[in-house]
Amino acid sequence: MKLKTIVWILIVIFVVFMVYKWIVNFPKPYTSAPVHWHAQFEVSACGESINLPRVGERAAFLGEHLLHTHDDNKAHIEGQVWEKEDVSIKAFIDAINLDKYVKSNGCDSPLSKILVDNFSDADGLNHIMADGETIKLIYG
Ligand SMILES: [Zn+2]
Repeated sequence: MKLKTIVWILIVIFVVFMVYKWIVNFPKPYTSAPVHWHAQFEVSACGESINLPRVGERAAFLGEHLLHTHDDNKAHIEGQVWEKEDVSIKAFIDAINLDKYVKSNGCDSPLSKILVDNFSDADGLNHIMADGETIKLIYG
């Protein structure tokens, strides 16, 4: 075999190997397709039941497209979820600035209890929300 042929064979083997590695390591999304999930929220702020913060004037929703609310006390998870952490309870609280909102309602106590479908969840704030869940957040 000519040297040139050998070099070409090596190049082809290398390229095939790299493409294989790229396919194997390609990030897989948490949901295989876009989703539209809802989780109901119940917030207790120092013993008082409060709504989630309202959508501002002229805004279509509060939060981010993937994680938002519509004046209905629900978390809307809408779109393709790449990292499951993006739809954790913590991600939702941050997206709608809930801690600050609770404080502005006169409750200075931190989040002390999280219930998912009436059970306390070991993952706490890191619980990954799913369609149809009811999540209770108790401050104070
Ligand atoms: Zn929705």
